Amino acid sequence: MTLNQEVLEIRNRQRIKFKPMDEPAACWLGTDNIRGEILDVLTVIFQTSGCYWGKNGGCTMCGYVYDSAAKPPSEDEISAQLETALLRASDKDKFMVKIFTSGSFLDVREISRELRSKILSRLSQDDRIVAVLAETRPEFVNQTAIDDCLDAMNNKPLEFAYGLETSSDKIRKESINKGFSFNDFKKACVLSKENGIYSKAYLMLKPPFLSEKEAMEDIQKSIDDAAPYVETISINLCNVQNGTFVEKMWENKEFRPPWLWSMVEILKTAKEKHPKTYLMSDPVGAGSKRGPRNCKNCSYDVADRIREFSKTQDVRILEKCDCDCRLLWEKELLLDGLTFGSPIRD
Ligand code: SF4
Ligand SMILES: [Zn+2]
Repeated sequence: MTLNQEVLEIRNRQRIKFKPMDEPAACWLGTDNIRGEILDVLTVIFQTSGCYWGKNGGCTMCGYVYDSAAKPPSEDEISAQLETALLRASDKDKFMVKIFTSGSFLDVREISRELRSKILSRLSQDDRIVAVLAETRPEFVNQTAIDDCLDAMNNKPLEFAYGLETSSDKIRKESINKGFSFNDFKKACVLSKENGIYSKAYLMLKPPFLSEKEAMEDIQKSIDDAAPYVETISINLCNVQNGTFVEKMWENKEFRPPWLWSMVEILKTAKEKHPKTYLMSDPVGAGSKRGPRNCKNCSYDVADRIREFSKTQDVRILEKCDCDCRLLWEKELLLDGLTFGSPIRD
């Protein structure tokens, strides 16, 4: 059985949760360092028909596909989702909007060309909104889509974000089952840059089948490889989402989410090497069984420091992290590769 068939089998057993179609799957306000400026950010996850890749199997760690709508929403319903989300920012006078669809904003099967322009025009005409980010798989970035977006944005800054996960085609294929290449990512970034659009890469620390040390080395190399093509790199720490291949491995005690110490070390080294690249990480679920963690004494503090670093880009915040469990992590880096994939500690 191929990796994709295994993921698809797990997907077929999962039910999609019902949510009213005029409400986004999720939306929230936060703050972020946007190319050097600390800004309020409204994040919107639209309910659409969903990621075409995920519906046919897709990525081993991804539970976002279950955020898609049970039946394809109409264009009016998606527009209503945007208005519902914007209400969250009604007391803000300056903010950025990040658009996710649990798929690709530029895939016309999820958001039609007309609706895409309508959404971006709506955002660009709001004087309070200073920039927009939209996530997409790279295969949907082409000159026509870019021209449409730039027309609608009316000179406001636009950024495309890609779930690159790793610069290794082998790991992206055999561990993540992502279905595009590093070259596809590079082409999208180069074309975007030629048209004045910013690029952001999401990387994934410790997808399945990698030891803690291999995972660290993979991200360190991926940052080096991706940095020339993007302004911002955000590193997600693999957590255990419902209805995923990663969850099945975790239930079988074959997967442990990464240590937060690994992230601390990656950020310290990478910031020194790439001072001009904005490095971000939000360790979702930190400290929980399904999330990245150290010991119970330091997980929340270290995760907060990682978030604080992401806002300030100041490595001194990370240098102050300390706990006895660091020694255990160092031992795990030495030994994890010898256990043929079984975690040493759960
Ligand atoms: S990670 Fe992105 S590309 Fe992969 S299945 Fe999920 S939504 Fe689709
Ligand atoms: Zn600790």
